[in-house]
Amino acid sequence: MIKNVRIISVLVLSLALLFTTAAMAVEEGKTIRVVASFYPIYIMARNVLKDVPGVTITNLTATAAGCLHDYTLTTADMKKLTDADIFIANGAGMESFLDRIVVQYPWIKIFQLSSVVPLIAGAGQDNYNPHVWVSVKNAIMEVQNLGVVMAQADPLHAELYRRNTGEYVVRLEALRLKMHAGLERYRGTKIITFHEAFPYFAQEFGLDIAAVVEREPGSEPGARELAETVDIVRKAGIRALFSEPQYPALAAQTIARETGATVYQLDPSVSGPDDMDAYLQIMEKNLEVLKNAFSK
Ligand SMILES: [Zn+2]
Repeated sequence: MIKNVRIISVLVLSLALLFTTAAMAVEEGKTIRVVASFYPIYIMARNVLKDVPGVTITNLTATAAGCLHDYTLTTADMKKLTDADIFIANGAGMESFLDRIVVQYPWIKIFQLSSVVPLIAGAGQDNYNPHVWVSVKNAIMEVQNLGVVMAQADPLHAELYRRNTGEYVVRLEALRLKMHAGLERYRGTKIITFHEAFPYFAQEFGLDIAAVVEREPGSEPGARELAETVDIVRKAGIRALFSEPQYPALAAQTIARETGATVYQLDPSVSGPDDMDAYLQIMEKNLEVLKNAFSK
């Protein structure tokens, strides 16, 4: 009986998928306009959508140098959305304007790539921490998710999406193994960061985030939070503080001055060159920064 119910559920699910797929399938010759929400998602899309005929990819917020927390859509952004067929978001709360797209642009198919990633709880009122791609393992899951949904949306080029996804995942997997090999001996090391961008990264590589000072850019830490962090750094003997290239490192410098710790830059890959290999390069650099910081 249970077996029958399961078979029926699978059938219903397959039918539902079939209908969505059929509805999304784009006629031959028509351009599919894909818009990615921001930098890390755009770089994934450039790889998965590489050389697919008739498919264009745009970064909605190319001018925003960082995460999209509290981001408000500009007139230029809305113009890009008017022509869009597919919107690729990270999800998990990163794009707070998603509801607005659903209402204002009902024809756009929205894919949230983090839907396949186990999420970590967020700080304050945020349900989840949205910075999933900062973990290479999670980035691979998001890329694979993108490959699957694009093949369904554009079945004519399914084989090409599969090949692109496979090729990129091989390179990401090599990066992941290299980072694990390089960081394995530093498992359990305590670090201080200045933005809520690194919990997934820390989880992947076994690092221990002893404190996050500025939750998000714009929220400067108060005197008491700074004093508490200085205390944590001293008591735990933390030698390395990690700020980000996208955000001012004032709090980090203050804590460094007080404790003798050194400030390094870790890059969460929320901005960078318009280059398909940018994520790989940014993570390679992070690996070098961490090895350098921990070996001192
Ligand atoms: Zn962020």
